[in-house]
Amino acid sequence: MNNNFSLSHRKEEPENGVLYIVGTPIGNLNDISQRALNILKNVSLVACEDTRQTKKIMNKFNITNKLISFNKHNSLIKIPKIVKDLKEGKSIAIVSDAGMPGICDPGEDIARSAKLEGIDMICVPGACAAITALVTSGLPSSSFVFEGFLPKKKIDREKILLEISKNEKTTIIYESPKRLRKLLNELLEFCGGDREIMVARELTKKFEEHVGNNLNNVIDFFRDKDIIGEITVVIKGIKKRDLNPDKSIIKKDLNDLINAGLSLSAASKYLAKKNGLKKSEIYNMI
Ligand code: SAM
Repeated sequence: MNNNFSLSHRKEEPENGVLYIVGTPIGNLNDISQRALNILKNVSLVACEDTRQTKKIMNKFNITNKLISFNKHNSLIKIPKIVKDLKEGKSIAIVSDAGMPGICDPGEDIARSAKLEGIDMICVPGACAAITALVTSGLPSSSFVFEGFLPKKKIDREKILLEISKNEKTTIIYESPKRLRKLLNELLEFCGGDREIMVARELTKKFEEHVGNNLNNVIDFFRDKDIIGEITVVIKGIKKRDLNPDKSIIKKDLNDLINAGLSLSAASKYLAKKNGLKKSEIYNMI
């Protein structure tokens, strides 16, 4: 493998035996770079998540080249052949349906295999929904956590929601429109309605929308709407001092919840989640 990372001498034309990881638009096809178009046109073949999606770009820019499908269903079967082709000197571009290959799509698998096999990789960077949402959120963006799609399994999901509730950094999450309401309600439970948040919908597309400010507002906004399109959620981190919850406030909240009819156990569970504490720590306060 060529471990010399000074690649400024690289030519604009694709080189033999190199895997090109090519960023494509997340909606607006004009967001593709000249360099990406040049690579897509001149590599030996283009491996794409869905050939129909990639054809839209190829057709718009009058590019014809060989396309093969490479997606989460066939990646394990396809990787050995792609690696073999690269070793035999072909140049191959990998693209996903949208954005940067490797960010929540099987681009990650081919990059790992290429590295293990000593194959040179070059990234032609392009749009990424996470970064596009982050920079338009107005939330702190120099240091952030990207969670991708949250796990479906309750225990794993709650672990991450708890981390988000305590995290000082901005968090970015991908979500499907079908599950957005569920995610917002979970965030409400773990982070409280005042937490600042921005839901970016259909970034770079005709009906692009940025919905903020805090969780209560956002839940209200989507309450009676049909939610469609692609969604990225950006959540502000907490202030450092919030990590040391005020015991007198927690005690008062506990009393209020019990007076409102919750059992001690349910009220403690709720407050433990809200404050990022263990249930036993809440018991110990009383
Ligand atoms: N590789 C892509 C990237 O670089 O952003 C992400 C692929 S992931 C399979 C698709 C998810 O990205 C969508 O479900 C959505 O959460 C987010 N996404 C993609 N395009 C978007 C857009 N135009 N607006 C908002 N979110 C988007």
